[in-house]
Amino acid sequence: MSDKNKNVEKKIARDIKYRALLEFKYSAGKHASYFFQQLRDNKKLMASKCPKCEKAYVPPRPACPECFEANSEWIEAGPQGTLVGFTVVEFPFLDPTTGKTKEVPYGYGFIILDGTATKFAHFLDETDLNKLEAGMRVEPIFEEERSGNFADIKYFRKIADSE
Ligand SMILES: [Zn+2]
Repeated sequence: MSDKNKNVEKKIARDIKYRALLEFKYSAGKHASYFFQQLRDNKKLMASKCPKCEKAYVPPRPACPECFEANSEWIEAGPQGTLVGFTVVEFPFLDPTTGKTKEVPYGYGFIILDGTATKFAHFLDETDLNKLEAGMRVEPIFEEERSGNFADIKYFRKIADSE
């Protein structure tokens, strides 16, 4: 091999930096599609229910994670519920559901909707930690224009006559 060819081989080994754009559509599946349709069209939060242990899940799951039975029934969850955990977010970061940074501060909570066994995570309108407490009764406030996603619920707020 000549000295000239050795130089060519060295030039071949190099990094190529390229950022790929991969567009895709996410299929919500049968259960989540029904959940989002009911949320969009009727402002209902539908839960799937296990026929064996009778636990209801929202967002719905196709099978019970405890019994492994197919969740074959639907019930209307809440829409009121009990706040069981919360925080107030002070640090801005990208919201993966919108691709935008949500204005801070905002409340975020785990809510057990009436009739269900799961903690439903969503925004809270309250941003004062001293006014939030576990056990507080809350209700969802829906957007007027809904498109079939979690953002159709603006936030949960304390039910006015609850303590
Ligand atoms: Zn079950």
